Amino acid sequence: MPKVYNWQIGREMDYPFEGRRPRRQAAAVFDTNKCIGCQTCTMACKTTWTSGKGQEYMFWNNVETKPWGSYPLAWDVRVLEMLGPQAWDGGVYRGRTLFEAAPGGERAVGYLPEDLDYAYPNRGEDETNVPVTEERFYLRLPHDAWFFYLPRICNHCTYPACLASCPRTAIYKRPEDGIVLLDQQRCRGYRDCVKNCPFKKVFYNHTTRVSEKCVLCFPAVERGIQPRCMRNCIGKIRTFGFVSTPDRATADNPVDFLVHVRKVALPLLPQLGLEANIYYIPPVHVGNLRFLQMLFGPGVEGAIAAYRRAMEGRDEELLGVLMLAVSTDRIVHRFRVSRGHAYGYDERGEEVVRVPLQEPTMVRPAYDPQYRAYRYNVT
Ligand code: SF4
Ligand code: SF4
Repeated sequence: MPKVYNWQIGREMDYPFEGRRPRRQAAAVFDTNKCIGCQTCTMACKTTWTSGKGQEYMFWNNVETKPWGSYPLAWDVRVLEMLGPQAWDGGVYRGRTLFEAAPGGERAVGYLPEDLDYAYPNRGEDETNVPVTEERFYLRLPHDAWFFYLPRICNHCTYPACLASCPRTAIYKRPEDGIVLLDQQRCRGYRDCVKNCPFKKVFYNHTTRVSEKCVLCFPAVERGIQPRCMRNCIGKIRTFGFVSTPDRATADNPVDFLVHVRKVALPLLPQLGLEANIYYIPPVHVGNLRFLQMLFGPGVEGAIAAYRRAMEGRDEELLGVLMLAVSTDRIVHRFRVSRGHAYGYDERGEEVVRVPLQEPTMVRPAYDPQYRAYRYNVT
């Protein structure tokens, strides 16, 4: 099997396909601390792409509550069980990846979900890890009783398992932006992609009898506009842009800054070996570090410390780049923080957005002489 370098696991690994990096890689950072589980992203995607026949059960974007939520049912538990022991040695993963653990004759470890596994997309929503009782210190950080929302889309992986496992080469990765697309003319509905995508982000359409997946709103991205799930995010948790490999990272690229410079954003399940390109800022309130390390790898403690520094006012640059999230429909390629403001620039270097680091406040007098009325709540 050919070897490729995966920086997320700090080593070379087997990949059963030609592993060629795109000229640039579309990516996003999701701040789990700000997600309110409103599902606006889910519905923005649903009404745009999956409202047709055979697409009823599809959620290219879904938001599940961890630790109990999953869509399809137990996707993460099942894949991690199949992977076997997962050990990290600093930043180097010593276990087997999805490709290295493949049984003879297969390209990756995987399973095909049953129809009923898709029946409960909101299973476990808002459920805490343990019952909230008076003895538990949930008003102190981190919490004993906790949950958090995990928004998920296709990760447009650098080494996609869906692509590597398609016998028709119907799935391809665009060299210009790394978006992974599925050619429905070539697809014959074998579902090897559904079986081998560990994140279960390829869906089979029983009406058209071919598979479908997230297209990262590529017609918008081509015009410098962010995908719909990002633009519509109520919690402003999503930073969309392009990620570099660590050796080519630039400190004024918002995604590079979060992933490589401050190392506050981490990939989902890096041990799978796909080099997933949706990154997560881990939740600071979760009292089970091992659970977070299982999901986001060994960088969790450092990421939480970096995030808390920004929240305590000790990292204005990080605060600034987080404030730019979902502040404009345009893709922000470069940013700058100066004199209490964060500035975002498009690909041509033109300013597309400017946000204050501190929201302006207005204090109104308690008595309004025009209406001869007293106000409550005057700030
Ligand atoms: S998340 Fe799944 S569907 Fe998306 S690129 Fe990776 S392997 Fe393919
Ligand atoms: S729209 Fe944003 S805040 Fe709402 S669920 Fe989706 S990711 Fe979370």
